[in-house]
Amino acid sequence: MKQQPCKNLFLVVAFILAMVPAMTNGKLWAGTAPDQSSATLKAEIEAEYAGKTPNEWGETVTGVKTSLKTNERVIVLTFDACGSPKGKGIDLDLIRFLEQEKIPATLFINARWIDANRELFLKLAANPLFTIANHGFLHRPASVNCRSVYGIDGTKDLGELVDEIELNARKMERLTGKRPLYYRSGTAYYDELAVQIAERLGHQVIGFSVLGDAGATFTKEQVSSVLLASAPGAIVILHMNHPESGTGQGVMMAIPQLRKKGFRFVSLSDYPLR
Ligand SMILES: [Zn+2]
Repeated sequence: MKQQPCKNLFLVVAFILAMVPAMTNGKLWAGTAPDQSSATLKAEIEAEYAGKTPNEWGETVTGVKTSLKTNERVIVLTFDACGSPKGKGIDLDLIRFLEQEKIPATLFINARWIDANRELFLKLAANPLFTIANHGFLHRPASVNCRSVYGIDGTKDLGELVDEIELNARKMERLTGKRPLYYRSGTAYYDELAVQIAERLGHQVIGFSVLGDAGATFTKEQVSSVLLASAPGAIVILHMNHPESGTGQGVMMAIPQLRKKGFRFVSLSDYPLR
């Protein structure tokens, strides 16, 4: 069957155009609009990758790091904040629990979530317990040729891919003074060239070995049960932007039991990745 990538491109473009007034009012573009240096960066990447076609598409393509290189009983918790219209919330009980229990976590945050939660974003970024990581500018699957997944079109070409990663990295750096090191695309889907380009932009691409909440659709019992089955060195993907879901309570149920089994919670930077 003939593939029709980008069949929703018109809708996407229309959506972005509709968002422009909101963006400019919110000063979203201030300091992040492609300047000469990012135009040069894009031109360099376009020259390097012109004519190359990806062979892989998925969550575990070549280059994606999915666990820690260790047999120690350690786990990394990662929480995405996707910022879609229904995903702009925050599970404050979960955040308070992590703070009280001194559990480090990596927070993959999309630009739209930052705009909806500016003060909270700055507070989280100021807490050394949390590592702020890049979850893209428009929450797009990372593609060099508009592959899609779950009905969401990926970035359509090299230029869009660079913008998707770079605009949020620069936004985060502008707000916090620190450029994020880790990147996870919207949907956590990539082709292998997109992973290389993210690395070229100074990021490590972080997947997962434990699907912690299946896009915040699991019950608390399901979340707890998959967490309790974690292997040493696991990276768990969860969400912090759906307080109505079972994620927070499932995490709170599992953590004391994991500690009893001898597990510790660590940061991505504490161990080599694989
Ligand atoms: Zn997401």
